[in-house]
Order: sequence, then C-alpha cells, then structure tokens
Amino acid sequence: MEKFKEDMITNLYGNPHSASASSQLSSSRIEDTRVMALQFFNADPDFFDLVFVANATAGIKLVAEVFREQQACFNYGYHYESHTSLIGVRESAQSSHCWNDAEIESLVSGSEIAHKVHGLSLFGYPAQSNMNGRRFPLSWSHKIRDLAKKNGTRTYILLDASSLVSTAQLDLGNKIVAPDFTVLSFYKIFGFPDLGALILRRDSSHLFRRRKYFGGGTVDIVLCNSQPWHALKSGHPHESLEDGTLPTHSISALNTAICDYKRLYGSMDQVSRHTSFLSLRLFSKLSSLRHGNSRPVCKIYSKGFDKEIDGLMQGPIVAFNILDKNGSWISNVEFEKFAGTRKIHVRTGSLCSPASVASYLNLEPQELREIFLAGYRCGDQRDLHAGKIYSVIRVSLGAMSSLEDVDKFVSFVEEFFVDQKVNIINKKSIKNPTLVKFSVESLKIYPIKSCGGFPIPPNINWEVKPEGLAWDREWLLIHQGTGQPLSQKLYPKMALIRPRIDIQKRILVIECHGVSTCNIPEFISVPLSPNHLSCNHPIETMTRISKVCGDAIIANAYTKPEIINFFSVFLEVPCLLARFPAGGSGISSRISTAQQHKHQIGFASDQDLLCQNLSDVNIIKRPILLSNESPILMINRASVDHLNEQISSACGKQISASVFRANIVLRPEDIQSHQPYCEDKWVRLKIGSQTYQMLGSCRRCYMICIDQDTAERNEEPLVTLAKTRRFDSKVYFGCHMCHIKNDTESDRNTTPTIQVGDIVQILDADS
Ligand SMILES: *Cc1c(COP(=O)(O)O)cnc(C)c1O
Repeated sequence: MEKFKEDMITNLYGNPHSASASSQLSSSRIEDTRVMALQFFNADPDFFDLVFVANATAGIKLVAEVFREQQACFNYGYHYESHTSLIGVRESAQSSHCWNDAEIESLVSGSEIAHKVHGLSLFGYPAQSNMNGRRFPLSWSHKIRDLAKKNGTRTYILLDASSLVSTAQLDLGNKIVAPDFTVLSFYKIFGFPDLGALILRRDSSHLFRRRKYFGGGTVDIVLCNSQPWHALKSGHPHESLEDGTLPTHSISALNTAICDYKRLYGSMDQVSRHTSFLSLRLFSKLSSLRHGNSRPVCKIYSKGFDKEIDGLMQGPIVAFNILDKNGSWISNVEFEKFAGTRKIHVRTGSLCSPASVASYLNLEPQELREIFLAGYRCGDQRDLHAGKIYSVIRVSLGAMSSLEDVDKFVSFVEEFFVDQKVNIINKKSIKNPTLVKFSVESLKIYPIKSCGGFPIPPNINWEVKPEGLAWDREWLLIHQGTGQPLSQKLYPKMALIRPRIDIQKRILVIECHGVSTCNIPEFISVPLSPNHLSCNHPIETMTRISKVCGDAIIANAYTKPEIINFFSVFLEVPCLLARFPAGGSGISSRISTAQQHKHQIGFASDQDLLCQNLSDVNIIKRPILLSNESPILMINRASVDHLNEQISSACGKQISASVFRANIVLRPEDIQSHQPYCEDKWVRLKIGSQTYQMLGSCRRCYMICIDQDTAERNEEPLVTLAKTRRFDSKVYFGCHMCHIKNDTESDRNTTPTIQVGDIVQILDADS
C-alpha cells in the first residue's frame, strides 16, 4: 500500500489512448502489467492473452456471453464442486450437466463417455474448491479436450483458478495441458487491487470475434444512421474485449503488488509450503479434539489431508462443522458470535458452493426447497432445520497466516466447544422459587431502539402499556439506503446517544456523549405526541418501510435536515430517525420466539399453559414495538452478581448490569432470596399491584459486550456466559415478560404503573 501511494503521488496517470505523456504513461503501464501478470502464471505472452476484468465472475460472464452468441448452440458441463459463479453459465447453455466424481473419472480415464454431446461444448471446473480446498488436476483440460476431438466434437475448457492462485503457483507453462480460458481475481492473491483476469489461449480466441456487444475502446470504426456497421479492433484479443476505460490505477497497483509480493514472500512455492504445513497442523489438531465422552468435536469436509485417503490433492483450507457431545450440530451463527469475542473472523455459510455443500451435508433438493419455502435465505441468521445443518465453517490459510493463528484458533474451539468443563445451564438448587422476596431496584426505558437508556426517576409512577413500558422503543434509527434498523452490533456508538423524556414539555430530548460531538448541536428534540400536526411542534415525516426481526413495518421518518444530520454526523452513517405508528402488526412472531426460548431452556411443560394465557389476555393483537423480542425485559441482580463472581474467578473484567439493557432490574430482598437464575423458573409475577406473565429467557448476542457508558467492546460477559449459560449452543440471560390486564371493575379505570421500590411477588413458578 505504501508503494502504491508513492506511485500515485509521484506519477500522473491520464486516460489511456491519447498522445499526452500522462496518457502514454498509463498505456505503457497497463501493457507492462499485462505481461507481468501472464508471467506470474508462467504463461507465454505469445501463446496466451490476458483480459483485465473486474473479478473472476466477470471473466466467467464474458466467456458465457461469447458462447451464447456462437451460431451453434452449446452444451455446458460443470463439476459439482464449482463456485456459484461457474454454475450460472448453465443458464446461457442449451443443455447442461453437473458432473460428479465417478462420471468425471470415467470421462478422463477415457473408459467411457458418460454424456456424449454433439457440437460445441464448454466444460467448467475449479482448480481448487473454495469450499473445502480440494484440488483438481490441470491435466483434465487436455484429456477432456482430446476426447471430444476424437469424437469429432469440440469441447473448450474454462478453469476457475480463483481459489487456487492465492496459495499455489498456477503454472500455464505446459501449452498442451493449458485450459482454453482461465479466470481469477487478483485480490485473492494480493488483497489489493480489486481486479480480475481472463487468461485465454490465443488459439481459442477466434470464438470471441463473434461477441455482439462493442463499447468505447473495442472498435476501430462505427457507422450509424442508414448503414449501421462497425469493425472490432483486430489486434490482440484483449483489444476487442476490454470495453470502456480500463481501471488504470488498479492495474498500476497490480504491477506494484506483483513486484512487492516477491520481496515479501519469495515465491508462490514458498507460500504453498508454508500454508500446507500450517493447514496440516490445523487439520490434525481439529480432528483430534474430543468431548469428555470421547466423541469427536469437528466433522471435517476437507479430506485431502487424511493420509488414509489416497491421491486427493488438497489446498490449505479446512472446512468443518462442530458437534456437541451428543452428536448434534452447533449452529454456526452461534459459532461466529463466540469467535467474534476472541477477534477471530471466519467465513461460515454455504460458501457459494451449493452443490458441494449439498453433497457433503447430505442435503436433498427437496429439503433445500423446503427450507427455502420456510424462509431460509443465503446469508441468513439461521442454519439449523430439523436436526440438519445447512452451513459450514471455513478456515483458509494464506501467506500471512502464522503458527500462532492456527494454535489460537484451535484453543478457541477447545475452550468454547469441547464439552468437559463447559456444562451448561445450571438448574441446580433453586429451592422454592415462589418463596423468594424481590423488589424493583431500577427501571429503564430505551426510547430509541439500540441507543442509550433513560433511567426512570425513583419517585415516578411509570405507565405500563400492553406493549411495554411507556415510551420504550418507540423510535429507531434506520439506514438511509437500506431502510434497515441500525443496531449497536454494528454501530456501538449508538450507546452514546442518550434520549431523555421531558414529561412537562412533552418532548423527547436527545443528546450525544463522547468525543465526536463538535459538529452537531448539543441536543435536538422531537415531540412525544405521535400526532405531530395537532401539537405545537409540527414536524414533517415521510413513511419508510423497514424490517424488524423479519417483519416489514412502516415507519415515519423525520425529514428535517437538522434531525437527519444530528444522527448521521454523530454515527458517521447516513441514517434517519423514525417512529413507529401504534397499531402495527408482527407480534405473533415475537411471541413465538419467546415461546421457543422457553421451550429450549427446558420449560416445554408449560408451553401450552403459556399459549393459553396469551390468548386469554388477548395480547396476540398487541401492536408491534421495537424491543426485538418482548414487551419488557427483566434481569435479576442476583444473577448479575453471580455472573460477576464467575467472571472474576476467571480473571475477567467485571461487567455492569447495564450491558443487558433491561427495563427492570429486580433485587433480592434478603439473603435467602439471593438465588441466581431463579427467574428462569418464574411463570407469573406481581409487581406492585400489577400482574405480569413471563415469556421465556432472553437469547443473547455479542451486543452485551458493549460497555453502555463508553461504547467500547469487551469480551465479557459473553465469554463467561458461553461457558455457564448455554443451551443448544445459545446463550441466555434475563427474561421476557408482558403485562396482563386484570379485568376487574376497579382496574379497568386505572392506568397500570410501575415504580422503583415496588415489591415483587412470585405467583407461579415451575418447581
Ligand atoms: C472467490 C471465487 C470465485 C468468485 O470470485 P469473485 O472475485 O467474487 O468474482 C469464483 N470461484 C472460486 C473458486 C472462488 O474461490
């Protein structure tokens, strides 16, 4: 990057193809780099040409475009371990076939042609699977090509080298074996620039002359009007394929990257040896991990490391899933959460390798259709369904990976997922959960979802509405582009946005704390009244569609520039303050999530009871509000204290109860009542004169690691909770609850309230 900067500030690069010195500099730099890049892959520039493209996918698309535009229709074959971008070519073909190992085997051994095709064919395969690092021989190219020739047809080979090139030498030195078209992305080797290449054999490039589209730079002459006609550039193949202005500065950066890579890492072979060594170590360590009952912890899908399995070539990628001690899958969504606390970034999901993942995870097409219909989507926060897992964890090692990285990763898996000490959810020694005495220690609301809390003053009776405490999560911030709600997960600074309710003036006052407040006013305010036009503070809004927990909702966003700027400048993200009109929908999903939690944590017995109670009190029709999962969130001081003891004994940094962002903190009144996690057992409570129904334990994410005073991210309390309060690989702390309206004559006419100091009575609890 430093060399690139130096290049940029010392040289002036013009738009290529002019006579000026700056333009000439660009042109020559581009042509030098083209040759350098070919040489980097040992490709003879007389025999190959290199077309600069945006990325590997763009290279594949260019090949697909050209094949579609040949006079003859084409057949497309692709290996099942192909990347999605390679699979997509099939939609341009007249017919296509996904080849499995046995079919390929019989094809390349020449013993049988599994699928006899006529006319023009294209066969695509990866040099290395990006899912599990499995490598495929370059020699397939000429075997398949030769076989077709013998049968009087023509098959061209499209090699996807994107995954391979990052840790191995792609060697196109053998012209007989070399594929017709090779695609790759340079960022996978160098990190920068974002640029790709299509390397083509000149003797196969005649196909590209049939491409229909032309753009600036790829034609020698264009006639319009009555005689439309054009002549493509006729020099090197790339001249008629690089439409528009080339990314000159990126190409220059590539030149720098190629030179500097050699200085930093020596040769690709050296990188290859280094990464092979590391990945073998990673594989051996992960495969030897065992739970206390001696069952394996990792199911590994990268098979080539295994000495037992002969002949498989393997790149430095380990793809796997984690099993608990009973052999059930651990969700990778949870895995990533815990990895985040240790600052480990891994890739999980189906890794753009749909057919490989389906094959390794034994997923039938019908099952995949079913989960799609059930709402599962690529990039979702869900990966388990009916006991099966739909994603994998992938660890890829590169030139800059170290022994320490590998060892740290393995100890992380050991610490969090090996079941010896990690035994989870203590349902121990809670004596009689109804006999405990509690009172309300503090109350807090969060007027703007995911922003700072407003402590309710101790001497105030605060209204409890069917949808929660008054003014709690009435507003939210949404991204101006996507309409998605912002959250502290991505924008921890939201903790420093402190809204305050001014009951007298009937306004919500918002201040921002911390350093970067100099470019914004000290505070702004909006009226509390949802009906802006009828009050003294008319404020214009526009409706925006947003999504909270998968439910589409319509929010009213404030359009005043001062308001938009206030949040956008402070958070450094274009965003809008919005308000939810009362009476939306979507509660059913929230209630069901809460029920699910209760079920998961071992309360299956009262699920029916819960549903019945819910319909009794008729909260199904309750309007949506923004606290993602329940109207009111409660935590127990005794549980916080207990957790802090555990954190201290592990030499961690103690946490404040505020990280849990509860509405109600309950405090045990005497020493007998100091029972951590007794709240898990409660079913119904009375606080003051009001009755509440428990809706289940609250599932936690790494948002609880954000210090609400400083907006800093810590490891705790998630690390300790992960080891002490985990069920089905999910972490729970605190409980959801909602208010139940008593239908007696006297209660109907009074407003239900809650106050700091109110006495808590446990009406029902599970024994
Ligand atoms: C990364 C990758 C691609 C896609 O590369 P882009 O840069 O996203 O176009 C295709 N195939 C394989 C094997 C890859 O690893």
